[in-house]
Amino acid sequence: MLEVRHLNVWYGAAQALFDVSLQVAAGELVVLEGLNGAGKSTLLQAIMGLSPRATGAISYQKKSIERWEPHRRALIGLGYVAEDRRLFTGLTVRENLRLAARGDVPAREAQALQLFPALATMLDRPSSQMSGGEQQMLAIARTLMTGPTLLLLDEPCEGIAPLLVEAVREALLLLKRQGVTLLVAEQNQILAAHADRTLTLAAGRLQQC
Ligand code: ATP
Repeated sequence: MLEVRHLNVWYGAAQALFDVSLQVAAGELVVLEGLNGAGKSTLLQAIMGLSPRATGAISYQKKSIERWEPHRRALIGLGYVAEDRRLFTGLTVRENLRLAARGDVPAREAQALQLFPALATMLDRPSSQMSGGEQQMLAIARTLMTGPTLLLLDEPCEGIAPLLVEAVREALLLLKRQGVTLLVAEQNQILAAHADRTLTLAAGRLQQC
């Protein structure tokens, strides 16, 4: 369903990804491993259309999307949760959820809150007053409000309290059981044991296993 072929990405004159090709099938959980600076974030951003300069082909559900703007990629089912979460910290939890929402908003909100019940108890709280783990749950829930079929997650369990790591992991595994496809960059092996496959990036190149 997702196919990346011969992807190269540059930041200015510096090349960050070299000839990366991969496929992710519908319903899979694929973990993307690699050291700091290996290119994990760059790969997820390129798939979402957020790279400054990229060449190569990206298709999703048989549509060539490599020239599409990020919002158009979101419309066909791609959802991206950045490592820094990118919440609107001046807004409440509810406002953050509704800002990006599309489609049947009440149903999507109910589904997101079912996945992360802790958020339901803090809907009127400014997101600036949440812990790192709570913010991570909100960032994922907000992306779910767009109805993604493929979730691209950058270090979802990094730097958050163990109890909330567990909540995030359980929620992601439930999403997988509901049929959502997951491509997850992580270094801390929280989801690796549940992965259908693991891909490893090193210095911008995908390693052959
Ligand atoms: P980390 O876990 O530390 O984020 P990563 O595997 O996600 O690591 P990337 O953030 O994708 O790696 O970085 C890949 C390479 O691209 C690194 O050499 C990094 O310095 C460089 N890079 C990333 N973002 C930028 C940017 N905005 N401008 C210039 N270079 C960048």
